[in-house]
Amino acid sequence: KKAKSGGEKLQNIKVMVRVRPLDRTEEEHNVKSIVKCNTHRELQIKDKRFNFDRIFRSHSSQLDIYKGVVAPMIPDVISGYNCTVFAYGQTGSGKTYTMTGDKCKFVEDWKTDPEAGCIPRAAAHIFEELQLEKHERSVKVSYLELYNEEIRDLLNDEDIVLPIFNDNKGCVFIQGLTEVSVHDSQGLCRQLQKGTLRRQTAPTLMNHQSSRSHTVFTITVHTRESTISGEDILKTGKINLVDLAGSENVARSGCKDVRAVELANINKSLLTLGRVIQALADKSLKHVPYRDSKLTRILQDSLGGHTKTAIIATISPTAFSLEETMSTLEYASRAR
Ligand code: ADP
Ligand code: MG
Repeated sequence: KKAKSGGEKLQNIKVMVRVRPLDRTEEEHNVKSIVKCNTHRELQIKDKRFNFDRIFRSHSSQLDIYKGVVAPMIPDVISGYNCTVFAYGQTGSGKTYTMTGDKCKFVEDWKTDPEAGCIPRAAAHIFEELQLEKHERSVKVSYLELYNEEIRDLLNDEDIVLPIFNDNKGCVFIQGLTEVSVHDSQGLCRQLQKGTLRRQTAPTLMNHQSSRSHTVFTITVHTRESTISGEDILKTGKINLVDLAGSENVARSGCKDVRAVELANINKSLLTLGRVIQALADKSLKHVPYRDSKLTRILQDSLGGHTKTAIIATISPTAFSLEETMSTLEYASRAR
């Protein structure tokens, strides 16, 4: 939120809201939207007003979202900084639509597809920018799923749970996570498609409960710049695009479900993420509880410090979702 210089922590956390349009069934049943967008920054439901860095109305396009949220991060990634974009919201509110896009058609025609999401658009943008750079560069991607505090590799056909370590410099490291080198945006999208299909079809992955798992798609850019003095400058930056578990998985108090453990774990990552973001937004809080969940450990080097973070809170427009929408907006408000 506040950009500063001179040795101080430089933080940039933006919280935005995207309102899903009414779907066909809702329109057929003459359901009305209960969400009013008063301005680009203020949203109102009944008499409750919320303020965010930006509100994307229901008719906003995929390109509007990309330009408003992700595009400003790409120059930072290429300059060697880490950025993260989260989609947070109830199941069915548009997280996957926002991050990936609709269906799995992004390899063949995503370039002309108005419904392509942030990941294929970021791929195209990164390779366009890199073409302008004269330096040596390479791009790698990884794609993981986090379910029940267990990490699985969506780019590896073997179904194994990957361990996570902190190395002696305090850096977090996921042992065995596949990193694929990609040479153009088409190749990058192929990996996205491969992992997405794998998540939907592998029986041992929790595809039938995809609303309960988080996915992290990471694009890492390395550049090597040769200077006149003969010393090479190496830069590594990355962007994490995170499709979070459905926010309805934040446990209600008094939940005594058989899935309590599972729910507690999903909570752990979603709740800890909320606390980490809150701690980063509030400079007076010195302790940032990264270590309290797998998700925040995985993203530790990309949250806080000299990084940019955006949270896209996705909401449904109907009265039916009122309770979940309010809880999503409250979670998102706390991050500001
Ligand atoms: P989530 O990942 O949050 O569970 P999805 O992204 O799968 O939700 O969205 C649910 C449905 O609504 C999908 O069929 C998706 O295509 C549609 N949808 C979501 N957001 C939009 C939008 N902004 N414009 C058009 N369709 C959308
Ligand atoms: Mg989804």
